[in-house]
Amino acid sequence: MIWYPYQQMKTMKEPYKIVDAQGVYLYTKDHKMIDSVSSWWSVIHGYKNPVLNRAIKEQVDNFSHVMLGGLTHEPVWQLSKKLQEWLPGDLDYCFFSDSGSVAVEVALKMALQFYINQGKRRNMVLSLEHAYHGDTFKTMEVGDDEDYHAIITEKKGVIHIPTTIEALEEAFKNHGKDFYCFIVEPLLQGAGGMRMYDISFLERARELCNAYDVLLIFDEVATGFGRTGNRFVADLVLPDILVLGKALTGGYIGHAATVANKKVYEGFYSDDPDCALMHGPTFMGNALACRVALKSIELFEKENYIEKIHKIEAITKREMEGFADSRIKEVRIMGGCVCIEVKDSKTLEGYQEFACQRGVFSRPFLNYMYAMVPYIIEEEQLIQVLDTMKAWFL
Ligand SMILES: *Cc1c(COP(=O)(O)O)cnc(C)c1O
Repeated sequence: MIWYPYQQMKTMKEPYKIVDAQGVYLYTKDHKMIDSVSSWWSVIHGYKNPVLNRAIKEQVDNFSHVMLGGLTHEPVWQLSKKLQEWLPGDLDYCFFSDSGSVAVEVALKMALQFYINQGKRRNMVLSLEHAYHGDTFKTMEVGDDEDYHAIITEKKGVIHIPTTIEALEEAFKNHGKDFYCFIVEPLLQGAGGMRMYDISFLERARELCNAYDVLLIFDEVATGFGRTGNRFVADLVLPDILVLGKALTGGYIGHAATVANKKVYEGFYSDDPDCALMHGPTFMGNALACRVALKSIELFEKENYIEKIHKIEAITKREMEGFADSRIKEVRIMGGCVCIEVKDSKTLEGYQEFACQRGVFSRPFLNYMYAMVPYIIEEEQLIQVLDTMKAWFL
């Protein structure tokens, strides 16, 4: 018996059973749908990409996994080297793990211990209202979304602020010396409702983190690899720790990375064994994941994905222009993300089935109907997705 995610099992609708997938399409036994969700925003190259398939098959024939405790191997070595070259600034030190939630946990633990290693105790985290950073316990605490995290009622030592510079300055004025980190989903808050905000907020955050000696963490598990129209938001404002997941492997296999800058790494680099980072997920640096991630990045560069994403954004803006309905609160577009926020969540009841009948897989949640398509999508396919979204309101 499968226990499905985010569902009341007693009342949930039968999930679509997928028997094949190719490009942007998911296939059931008798139906074909464009995956407008990219399997939780991860399958950026679409399904069954021949280059990625080949990479992972070759690695299976070599070896699938060896642990990183006392062992190392070429794929993990190459991926860390590639990320070091590819990521901005001195974000050079990659700690691998098997999921975004764990990678965020590692980032928070790194930040906390960074100060402990200096003989300092800082015990507060600054984060955003509507933040989502994963479903493990500490990530639920720094997150701020009652729908995911209703079981956590007490959040000691975590302050949530809206994305205004006023609130940011106020928080630092009151608690700046107590924060061990400020963690944000930069520019685009995903699971909290596809909320978008301005880069000036992050620029000011960087200044305040410098002034108060607080580590800035970008959780780019959702925004990384082009989703906002930037390769990484970290290309615009440099964090101390960058968290990558979801699209890291092109959606082939679960893997994530917590990437630290030199300052953070050196905070652990010591003759004292107590200053070491005591963490080690069993499947960190999995060889299949590393091989496919490396190929995914190569494709991203070689086929100029940033241009593809800008085109997706331009088409989306064009197609959504002038679209309005009294039930809609706002239409938001950024890079490869479009969200129609409705005033009442009941407005979206039945939309998934409606979209399926029109050949689009969609998974609206709460008041949000959205699309985060694979970047390889063709113009007509994207228009089909957007027309389906608009048609629901006709
Ligand atoms: C999905 C997500 C996570 C959690 O990643 P998992 O791989 O599901 O654990 C963390 N942060 C953000 C911003 C996410 O979107």
